[in-house]
Amino acid sequence: MDFSLSVEDVAFRDELRAWLAKEMPAFLEEWSVPDADPDDEDADEVGDGETGAEGFDRTQERRRAWQRLLDEGRWAAVNWPVEWNGRAATPTQNAIYSEEMARARAPGIYNANGIWQIGPMIITWGTEEQKARWLPTILSGEEHWCQGFSEPEAGSDLANMRTTAILDGDHYVVNGQKTWCSSAHLARWGLFLLRTDPTAFERGVKHEGITAFVIDMTTPGIECRPIRDLTGDTMLNDVFFTDARIPVEHRLGGEGEGWQVAMTTLGHERVGTAGLSVSMATDLRRVISLAASENPDALRDPALRDRLAGAFMEIELTRLLNYRALTKISQGLPNWPEVPLAKLQWSSIAQNLAELALDLFGPAGVLGPGAAGAPDDGRWARNYAWQRYTSIGAGATEIQKNIISKKALKSARAAR
Ligand SMILES: Cc1cc2nc3c(=O)[nH]c(=O)nc-3n(C[C@H](O)[C@H](O)[C@H](O)COP(=O)(O)OP(=O)(O)OC[C@H]3O[C@@H](n4cnc5c(N)ncnc54)[C@H](O)[C@@H]3O)c2cc1C
Repeated sequence: MDFSLSVEDVAFRDELRAWLAKEMPAFLEEWSVPDADPDDEDADEVGDGETGAEGFDRTQERRRAWQRLLDEGRWAAVNWPVEWNGRAATPTQNAIYSEEMARARAPGIYNANGIWQIGPMIITWGTEEQKARWLPTILSGEEHWCQGFSEPEAGSDLANMRTTAILDGDHYVVNGQKTWCSSAHLARWGLFLLRTDPTAFERGVKHEGITAFVIDMTTPGIECRPIRDLTGDTMLNDVFFTDARIPVEHRLGGEGEGWQVAMTTLGHERVGTAGLSVSMATDLRRVISLAASENPDALRDPALRDRLAGAFMEIELTRLLNYRALTKISQGLPNWPEVPLAKLQWSSIAQNLAELALDLFGPAGVLGPGAAGAPDDGRWARNYAWQRYTSIGAGATEIQKNIISKKALKSARAAR
């Protein structure tokens, strides 16, 4: 494993650190609403834990303002090309970016999905007109974006999607249902995968006949119905389409190329959990200091002390797994098996940490946001429920295990 950073990487890190040191304090002073969750990079998925419409709106405005400031400094979309105000960051620089943002506890951004997933798809597959129309609004946060892939019968098995888009003159007519669309009710635009060739099922080739579209969420025939999740938040949505007419020029890529469009970012060599090991270590220290004031006896309990030490070790192990993946990527080797292993590590640590916090705080730990005497205003009780998502978001646990097992068994066969 190579821990050394190149001269360019050190310059990238130092420039970002200097920018954050200069810009963040004044921003935080002006926008005092805290983000409830550490996983800011996935802010669209995380929700905010803000109660009341006013608090929610202010959090969204704060995210938009922070993203604008980042964009002014060319720090909003580091993985985008320079011509689109990015920095064409390498995998190592992407990891440095995540770590530095986590270290600084930087606020969440407004268009996380747009910056990390949808923008790169438009950059790779869009026409010049499409890029000019949509990329600036993603960057500036002027318009919110969502992503609609999942359906009631298509999640882990995404190619099972049934929502149809049938060509009719210069429009496609869309019918069906998408689900679990984060923040779709706030979005002006969405990147959707739709089935343009329903015969693909009977032909036994369901990965084919799928096409990507950018959809104006204000189009007649589209209805968003928020879903209340385990934490009580309503950031996820069912999205229903009834004869919604989408112009042909909003198709991204060719007809039938949707699967390849969706794979644009999934195939990117991005070590997504790099920043999370930093934020989880910070969270763990925060939990310990809160426990010291809320329930000090817990910190003398040998079983809890053992779990604390275990959690620190697991976090450090994940950090090292990320570095090993980066080393392999920089040497042109596949990042297997470190990336799926790190995803599993992230999910198990996040959930263990959430449980540990509640056990350390004692009875007060289960008090939720707004309850009198709740440690950190109930953030940890909410977090306990919220972290269940980590075993399904970004690739379900069983699917990761299947991938590891299939690849490992194949490698074992090849070695014989
Ligand atoms: C917080 C959150 C935000 C999300 N945001 C979005 C979004 O913005 N846009 C969007 O399109 N989607 C979004 N999703 C949906 C997400 O992509 C899906 O939940 C995910 O792909 C899993 O699909 P599913 O929910 O249909 O579960 P399923 O695929 O039905 O899985 C259910 C369970 O069965 C297991 N399972 C499934 N297949 C197998 C198998 N072959 N072998 C063994 N076990 C299996 C899974 O591991 C899981 O435990 C979001 C989900 C969450 C939790």
